[in-house]
Amino acid sequence: MNSKIIHQINKVVMGEILFDEPMKNHTTFGIGGPASCFVHPQDTNDLINLLKLAYEQNLPVFFIGSGSNILVSDDGFDGIVISLKKNFSNLEITKTGEISAESGVLLGHLVNQAINAGLKGMENLAGIPGTVGGAIKMNASAYGYEISREFISAEVISMSGERKSYSSKDISFSYRHSTFNENEIIISTKFKCKFGSQTRIKYQKQKVSEKRRASQPLGVRSAGSIFKNPPHSPAGYLIDKANFKGIKHGGAEISTKHANFIINNNNASSEDVIHLISKIQNVVSDNDNIKLELEIKLLGFSNDIMEKLKYV
Ligand SMILES: Cc1cc2nc3c(=O)[nH]c(=O)nc-3n(C[C@H](O)[C@H](O)[C@H](O)COP(=O)(O)OP(=O)(O)OC[C@H]3O[C@@H](n4cnc5c(N)ncnc54)[C@H](O)[C@@H]3O)c2cc1C
Repeated sequence: MNSKIIHQINKVVMGEILFDEPMKNHTTFGIGGPASCFVHPQDTNDLINLLKLAYEQNLPVFFIGSGSNILVSDDGFDGIVISLKKNFSNLEITKTGEISAESGVLLGHLVNQAINAGLKGMENLAGIPGTVGGAIKMNASAYGYEISREFISAEVISMSGERKSYSSKDISFSYRHSTFNENEIIISTKFKCKFGSQTRIKYQKQKVSEKRRASQPLGVRSAGSIFKNPPHSPAGYLIDKANFKGIKHGGAEISTKHANFIINNNNASSEDVIHLISKIQNVVSDNDNIKLELEIKLLGFSNDIMEKLKYV
């Protein structure tokens, strides 16, 4: 990033700006080289000014939440990473069961506040890391419940700084996917939940938390499930069947607890993880004739690697 651009960013942005910021500090994988510029916009106006500048100067931009579903290259990202985690954390729940959450709100906080208000549904998402922005973009789901089920509307800002609102009829959701425009940042989302018995809701939260603890490697560095489940067999089953549990490459390891998780055990490089991903894809393709599609998002990789991983 040249000094003229750095000067312009410093002039326009009021929030925190970090130059050459290691992305490993912003991903649950703990992997990733430097982003040329990492910004926590102070408020919506600040965000609009930053987006306009990036648009005018043709600078690549990436939106990040908690980085819990992302693998960033060791080479980093030559552009601006925008995070709403620090300053967009307002959450309101009305007496009629409407939840308004800014994108930086942690999903766990939303789940707990919904439960406290006696609202049902969100408790199924207990234990999923990340922010509300990342969760609605990814249509986070667990145990048959998708966050989009209660979606009403979202506010976004386009790259040219235009503010727009989308309702549920404008956006389609499917398994770990939404049709929000890649070039628009979601700044807040509204949900409408039904009221239920708080005892039952709390019991359900406890049940899903126990299931998660029993089946997933928690308290270690990962990005959750690496691959989407193909229609007929869970990805973890196919990887386990290929005897991949516990296989290591450099500092990365295929979890012995859940074969669809890759763990950063020991300063893994993005290359270590890519090696394991590629190996899994090849063997599952040979064994089962199934192309495992990545669930995690990639940032900062060459077109060759994206092509190799069939990342679209
Ligand atoms: C241990 C573990 C368990 C997990 N379990 C589950 C699970 O059960 N179910 C599940 O669905 N996921 C699971 N995940 C994956 C992940 O937590 C979810 O996908 C989460 O919703 C991602 O939120 P985030 O804020 O971290 O998003 P990030 O990882 O930061 O970003 C994910 C995507 O959303 C985009 N994005 C983020 N914020 C915005 C925004 N404001 N506007 C526009 N785009 C945005 C990013 O550009 C990126 O494309 C798990 C992850 C881990 C580490």
